[in-house]
Parts: sequence; C-alpha cells; structure tokens
Amino acid sequence: MAGAMESNEKNYPGKPGSRTLSAKPSKGLDEVLAHAQDETRRQLEDAIEKKKTTGRSLTDILRQDVDRDMFRRIWAFLEKPAEEKPGEPASPDARKMKDVLVEGGWMTSDEISTGDAAGQYDPAIGRALVDSGALTEDQLADALAEHGRSGAPVWRILVNRGLLAPKQIADARKYGSLKPSSTADDAALAEMLVKTGLVTEEQCRKAMAERKATGREVTQILIDSRVAAKTVLGLALAKEYGVPYVDLGQTRIDPAAVALLPEHLCEESRMLPIALAGDRVTVAMANPNDTAARDMFRMMVSKEVAPALAFDTDLLEALKREHARAPQAPAAGAPAASPLTRLKERLRGAAGSMQEMATMAGKMGVIDLVTSIIEGAINSRATDIHLEPQTYGLRVRYRIDGMLYDVMTLPEKMEEEIIARVKVLSNMDVTERRHPQDGHCSIEIGEKTYDMRAATLPTVLGEKMVLRMLNADEVFLGLRELGLEPEQFQAVEAAVARPYGMILVTGPIAAGKTSTLYAALSEIDIFTRNVVTIEDPVEYRLPGINQVEIDHRVDRTFANMLRAVLRQDANVMMVGEIRDEDTAAVAVRAAMTGHMVFSTLHANNAVGAIGALRHLGIPPYLITSAVHTVVAQRLVRKVCARCREPYTPDESLLRAAGLDPQEARRMIFYKAVGCKECYRTGYRGRTGIFEILSMDDAIKSMVLADAGHDEIVKAASEKGMMNLMQAGVKKVQEGAVTLEELLRVTTL
Ligand SMILES: [Zn+2]
Repeated sequence: MAGAMESNEKNYPGKPGSRTLSAKPSKGLDEVLAHAQDETRRQLEDAIEKKKTTGRSLTDILRQDVDRDMFRRIWAFLEKPAEEKPGEPASPDARKMKDVLVEGGWMTSDEISTGDAAGQYDPAIGRALVDSGALTEDQLADALAEHGRSGAPVWRILVNRGLLAPKQIADARKYGSLKPSSTADDAALAEMLVKTGLVTEEQCRKAMAERKATGREVTQILIDSRVAAKTVLGLALAKEYGVPYVDLGQTRIDPAAVALLPEHLCEESRMLPIALAGDRVTVAMANPNDTAARDMFRMMVSKEVAPALAFDTDLLEALKREHARAPQAPAAGAPAASPLTRLKERLRGAAGSMQEMATMAGKMGVIDLVTSIIEGAINSRATDIHLEPQTYGLRVRYRIDGMLYDVMTLPEKMEEEIIARVKVLSNMDVTERRHPQDGHCSIEIGEKTYDMRAATLPTVLGEKMVLRMLNADEVFLGLRELGLEPEQFQAVEAAVARPYGMILVTGPIAAGKTSTLYAALSEIDIFTRNVVTIEDPVEYRLPGINQVEIDHRVDRTFANMLRAVLRQDANVMMVGEIRDEDTAAVAVRAAMTGHMVFSTLHANNAVGAIGALRHLGIPPYLITSAVHTVVAQRLVRKVCARCREPYTPDESLLRAAGLDPQEARRMIFYKAVGCKECYRTGYRGRTGIFEILSMDDAIKSMVLADAGHDEIVKAASEKGMMNLMQAGVKKVQEGAVTLEELLRVTTL
C-alpha cells in the first residue's frame, strides 16, 4: 500500500508543468497521506471480510459497497489516461497498485484483469447484437479479447472500432434486440397473413424469426422469398384490414396532402397522407389498425383519416421522395392574420387585459397563436416561456430578467392543440404524453431566426411545456461585459491567461455561470490550442471549439467524456458542471497534468468551492495543486434607467447590505417603477456581481492545514477579496441596481 501511495505523490506533483506541491511536502500533506493510507487499508480489509461472508468478488464489493469511498478515488488518481502510454494497458502506478492488491491477497489477478470494467458488459446483449447481424461472432470475440488485455469497456472498444454506433448499444440494452416491436401487433399481423390463404403458419413463423434477426419487415421477407407476389399479397392483406391497398410507386400523390404532416411524424407513425377530399384524407399506412397514429393525425390535421394499406418499404421510400419534393406545411411563417396583429400589439405594449387577449386568442388558429406567444416573448426580452395547464385553462407566463410574469390564460379546450403544436415545432412525439420529452426548435420572425429548447413535463393537469429562448447575444459576452469590477477583471484575465490549472465558477442555477465560462473561453486562442467543452446540453454552438454533449443513456457522462478528451491532446477543457466524485477526480487530474480546466460547481460563495470539492472526495493537497481561481457570481437585474426614481431606503436595508446609514446619506438610491420600455417591470437587463478567490500561498496553506470555511473567508477578505455583497454595493452606488434587488440575490 505504502509503495503505491508514495508513487502517487511522486507522480503528479512532479509532472512537468505542475508547479505546486514542491518536492518537499509540507507537514499537512504528510498527515493527509497517512490518513488516506489508513483509510484505504481499512476499507480493503472490510471488503475482504465481506468477501469471506458473502462470497461476492472483491472487485464487486469495492465497486459497489465502497463506491463513494477513498478506495475508488485513489484508484482513479492512479489510473492515468491511456494517451500517455499508447499500447500499454495501464500506467506503472496503476499496475503497482494492482500488484500490491494481489500480493496482499486482496484480489486475484483474474479479478483484476476482468473485474473492473467488465461489469458493464452484459453477454445477453452481446448475443442479441450478434443474432441481429449487427456484429459477427469474430468481432465480438475480438472485442472481448481486447477488453481482457486492456480492461477497456467492451462497448467502448466496439464503438471505437466503428463496429457499432452508441445508439445501437443503447437500443440493444433497452429492447434486448435492435428493433423494438410490439408482440400484439405481430400476432395480429400473423393472423391476418394466414387468413389471406397465401401464407402458411410455418412461413409466417419463419418470416417473423427472420425479421427479429435482420430487422427487415415481415411482408418484405415474404415478398422477397417469393411466398407471394407483392400486389397479390397487398390486395389480400388489405382485404383483411378492410381498407384499400395502394401501390405507392403507381399512385398519384397529392403534394397538398403530403404537406399536412411533417416528415418526421410520417416516418415515426409510418403513415403518408396521399389524397385530400374535403374533410377526409386518404392516408397510406403500414398498419391501418394503428389507432394511436390515426388519433395523432386527426389531432394534428383536424381531418378524418381514411386509411389505406401500403407496405412499409414502399411507404418509407415514398415518404422520403414526396417530402423532398413537396414544400413543408406553411407553419411558422404563416402570414399574419388580423387578430394576430392586434394580439402582437397587445403583447408589445403589455397593457391589455388578459381576458381580452384570451378572447382574441380564441379567434386565431393554433399555429398563429403559438407564433404570437413566441413573438411576444422575443419582444419582451423573455428568456423562457411557460405553458402551464391549470384547472381554469392554459396559463402562459414569460420569464423576464429572471422573474416570471403572467401573460395570459387560454381556454382549456385549446390546451392540447397548443402543446401539440409546440411539440411538432420541436420535433417531439406528439402522441407521447406520459413521459417528459425535450427538443429543439427554430422559428423565423422577420429576418431573424430564434432558437429555442423545449421540454415537457407530465403534470396531473396535463402536459406543461417550457420553451427556453437560446438568445446568443445575451450569453456570449466578453469578459469585460460580465460586470466584473476593474480589479476583479484583472484577476480573471490573469487567471485565464495561465497555461494550466482549474478555474471554477460557483453560484446557484441561472447565475450566469455559463456566460462567464464562455467569456473565459473566448479569451483562449483557439487557433493554437485545442479547446473542448463537455456540456449538458450543448445549447450554443461555438465556432472553432469542439463541443461534446452529455448523454446518460449511452453512458456519455461528464467523467467518461473528460477521460476521452484527455486522450485527445486537449489544451483547454470546459466541463459544464462538476457534480459527482468521478468527474471531480478526473477534472482535478486534468488540471494537474498540464491542462486548463474551466468548470462550475455548486457552492454559495468562492471559498465554499473548497468545501464542495472536499465533499466530492478531493483531498486538500490536490485542491491546492489543481485549483488556482474560484469565481462566485450572481445575476442582478438592472433597474430601468428610464423610469427609476430616487428614494431613501429603510435603515434596516442599508444595514443588511453592510452600509453605514450615516455614510449612506451621501448616496443616491433608486427604486424600480415600471414603464413601457421595461415591459412594466421596472427592470431592464441584467449584470453579474462577482467574488474572486485567488488561491495564493497563504490561502493554500490554510486549505492544507484544514482551516475552516469562515477562517479562510476572513483571511481572503483581509487580503482584499471583494465579496458578492461588496461588489453589489458598488453597482448600487452607480445607480445601476436597486438595494432590494441586491439583497434578493445575495441572501438566497
Ligand atoms: Zn422602465
């Protein structure tokens, strides 16, 4: 054990580029190491005890029971990125640790070579992938062998070799095969096929089995294997369904019908509208009995469905062809109707009575209404639109400068249609109402395109929808525009210019942390340095930067992606958030091995980041080695300069902000009023207030000596650190922010 710990200590601080933790460790460090050693030894001993009583493998016990503990963290620190030793399975340190474990009789070498990452591999899924033809036996065997040698997860090996897409693995995990299919649908189809008298039960069973293996459609298999001719089978099967058969290759398809339903919905529900007659639409369907699809169509198009049978393959082909030809339905760009124009004016002025608006809304089409709600949000600088089913109707609210405002309530009967319309715009599944969904949509208004992220939530009263406006102008600010005080700006600019180490931004949700990280990134020379971000989700595209999106369904976690990025010769990486031990460990390691790491962390103030990191299992000596700057921030609403009014605040407010009432007499304070310019809110725009903690030698030695939070805060402020409140008071003195607003955000 001792050997492993010493090599750990030698390895990281000694790396070129790492400057802290000088060769001679301080007394505090020795203690920490000794403590870690004891801790680890104790855990291993516990695990060995458990192994005896439960018979479970030691790796299992360590991975699961000791999951949150020191053992895993030390292990994580010992394992080095593969990039440093290409072709070699593990770093010398990791091997040494493993040798120690084997020598001590804590693990067998078998457990070590197969144990760690094998847990994620399920042989049944491997089997299913081979059965379905996605992989050959040899490819799977090869990957397993590679896994045995390197310990890399089997799935990752398969993806890296280009044999499987992550989505295929996720699907296989979810369904146990590559293509989900409902057994009820299968049984119904089989019955009808046999009833036609063209297909025997045996042929049907065979075709079903083949479908399972290849993913091809049953009818197509029957046609291809010449069990029945296509037209004959089509006509006979359609008769069983009680609908007409259409050969889509031979039928005239009306572009006006095609335009009724967006392509992705056609594809998902396997239907294609082909002819229009008054209120009836002839819809070619792969399964004319699919009532869910018919309902969806009826709701989306408000017309009756006259189903017709078409074979799946033909349908998909026709669908692609026709949609490529036909222009899309006149959706967002519909010409403004007169009630719409009036509603828009109302929204702009924001003075109209809600009832009046709702009445007008009732007279507009759903499409126009949704467009106008979005336009209203844009005009009022809203960042989010909430569509909330209430007992009395659909409540529409805008978030402006961080606060929610009621805009209108729409009649209950319009609820479903409106939500469905937004779902269509955002490429969501219209028929799915029980599970939360998310999507993206763009809307063109005037000459500008607005991007939004949409998300639904099934509430007891119906689906709630939130649209987040992705307004790049507000997010992409330069460092100078964030609201930093001059001395703070200098500190941050200097921190960003450093070649490596970690800069953390802390604060609650919607505190502008992302803007700060992007502003920091914008200072990096992307032409000479490899910049990678790992975000959840990627909301804004940054030119010249490699952005990775988190996807938990395929194990694309912050920690996993960060490990991958480390093998990508990255210089600068931004990690959206550090919220688990694994990510914290890898991020710290990255910062200590010559990389610049930007990330956010949940903590109330700058010093709080130290406690938060310790809570995530990072020992003090690693915190001081990795982190050089912590930025805490809040967003405050700026008072509308047009309508603000000077006033004298209550003494208690002054004291709460740390102001001496006597001195405050010489200051001018403003209160928010509200005018047309500021949408009657009294506020217009936001700015950040900041607290910057630079980890200098004095602070570091305090952290190493395990000093308490308050003690460090005191020391930092004696050295001139401006706290959030003090930075906010400066903005109050400038007349940009009200005292109430400052107190609201700083006492959260
Ligand atoms: Zn105003």
